[in-house]
Amino acid sequence: EFQTPRKRGLAVPAGIGRTEFVKALDELSQSLGKDHVVLNDQPLEDGWYMEHPNTHDAFMIMDEEETVSSACVYPGSVPEVQLVVAWANKHLVPLYPISMGRNLGYGGAAPRVRGSVIVDMGKRMNKILDINPDDCTCLVEPGVSFYALYEEIQKRGYKIWVDTPDLGGGSIIGNTLEHGVGYTPYGDHWGAHSGLEVVLPTGELFRTGMGALPGSDAWQTFPYGFGPVSDGIFSQSNFGIVTKMGMALMPDPGGCETFLYTFQHEDDLLLLVDTVRPLRIANILENVAQIRHATIEIAVSGKRRTEFYDGTGPIPAEVLQGHLEKTPIGRCNWVYYGTQYGPEKIRKYKLDIIHQEFMKIPGAKRIDPQSLPKDHYFWSRAKIAGGQPDFEELSYLNWVPNGGHLGFSPVSPTRGSDVLKLWKIAKERHDQYGIDLFMTFCVGLRELHMINLVVYDRGSPERRKAVEKCMRSMIDDAAKSGYGEYRTHLLFQDQVARTYNWNDNALMKFNEKLKDALDPNGILAPGRCGIWPERYRGRGWEI
Ligand code: ADP
Repeated sequence: EFQTPRKRGLAVPAGIGRTEFVKALDELSQSLGKDHVVLNDQPLEDGWYMEHPNTHDAFMIMDEEETVSSACVYPGSVPEVQLVVAWANKHLVPLYPISMGRNLGYGGAAPRVRGSVIVDMGKRMNKILDINPDDCTCLVEPGVSFYALYEEIQKRGYKIWVDTPDLGGGSIIGNTLEHGVGYTPYGDHWGAHSGLEVVLPTGELFRTGMGALPGSDAWQTFPYGFGPVSDGIFSQSNFGIVTKMGMALMPDPGGCETFLYTFQHEDDLLLLVDTVRPLRIANILENVAQIRHATIEIAVSGKRRTEFYDGTGPIPAEVLQGHLEKTPIGRCNWVYYGTQYGPEKIRKYKLDIIHQEFMKIPGAKRIDPQSLPKDHYFWSRAKIAGGQPDFEELSYLNWVPNGGHLGFSPVSPTRGSDVLKLWKIAKERHDQYGIDLFMTFCVGLRELHMINLVVYDRGSPERRKAVEKCMRSMIDDAAKSGYGEYRTHLLFQDQVARTYNWNDNALMKFNEKLKDALDPNGILAPGRCGIWPERYRGRGWEI
């Protein structure tokens, strides 16, 4: 376990004195209760996934104390959230709302601005407000995790599924607001949401979609309502604090089956992706599948890198192949994990087409799941694509001591030539900085999210520096070729936002206009996703 003593003391937010700040916090604890306002002045404990800190980014990249909060508050109701917002406006203290703070690889629970007050929405506001087994919908508060919703559905015996991301312990609202994905046909979480309830930075409460019509029973079934769809501006932004969200859930399809194919050569990626595209768009391939580079296949075994290779620099191809040869999947460069749904005879029809098409790629191999041991990673993927939360995926953190990870996540069309370009950008930069390539492509409908997990020893300032440089160069290289990230770690949000600069930064100008109108005092998550309020802009905060 990792612990960092505090060198810089309490991180008082800029613009307010320490005494004044502590007095203001006292005032807040009088209305919220002492237990619900907690100062962050103890040594920083990194904990682990299930006991993650809400004080700082456990997977730090720059200085440990750069992204620490000053305090954490735990509202227990919507009026208490409004009260916190009013308090922040009065004292001009930056707030940073989180749901559960398990946003690993993208900043965890950390605020962008040092000394912000974390508004931990999930601890006390964690009710499943509704599960409707007829409409297959739910309405949840920020503290509801994928696990919790799954367990409640099991308890009630409903025949509905929860689409879960790789790690099921995070908040449904947090993940959806970040545009996270899962692996069933309902993998696009933002696309599946219906209805938000939001506290604005000035304290007003409002509901989107049908939620604006008193007495409507369609809030979770029709996302648009009447007039402009305002939901979008609350995702990947700092325009409001979400207190409730509705979501469509998938009916139990009556069976499912996960399959695995391997492909021999690095360049097969081109043909594979071009084979996948038409099948996916036509819904022959039914889920958000994963195409993974073979290095991750040995890393998810949970073993240390040194058991495979103890040289510096990325693990050489021949060494990798030598180890793969000893595993049930054998020598290969890419693997495809997909899942088909419905009763067996429905699955068989599409699985036969998939087999026929995949086998056209020379050297392709179908791995019989029955040949895989029960502890093989395949079964974790099968579970997740079958609507059951899991967190086996985290085993790759054992790859290096003090394992931390960071996500580099650009998006491209599902096109072989694009994917090859992105893969080469990532490979070149990983080689340059001596980092093993943990690369996965998540197959959306017409697009791929390339998720590069940059795994590093967070105890080493030198490795952290290398990882930061690697990230910054990949972001720039990708943008030069026309690719942008769908999501990024706090510390790269300015850089990524700057790449979306068409027509003289028209998008950011629009976002800033919204920010200034909705949050005139600039108290809500300043800098999140590169959006800075007027009070901070051009004063040295951007990095
Ligand atoms: P998870 O636990 O699902 O990984 P987090 O709680 O870490 O998700 O949320 C991810 C990010 O989304 C946070 O850093 C924050 O910026 C934003 N966010 C999360 N919950 C809310 C909310 N209720 N209102 C506004 N923004 C939120």
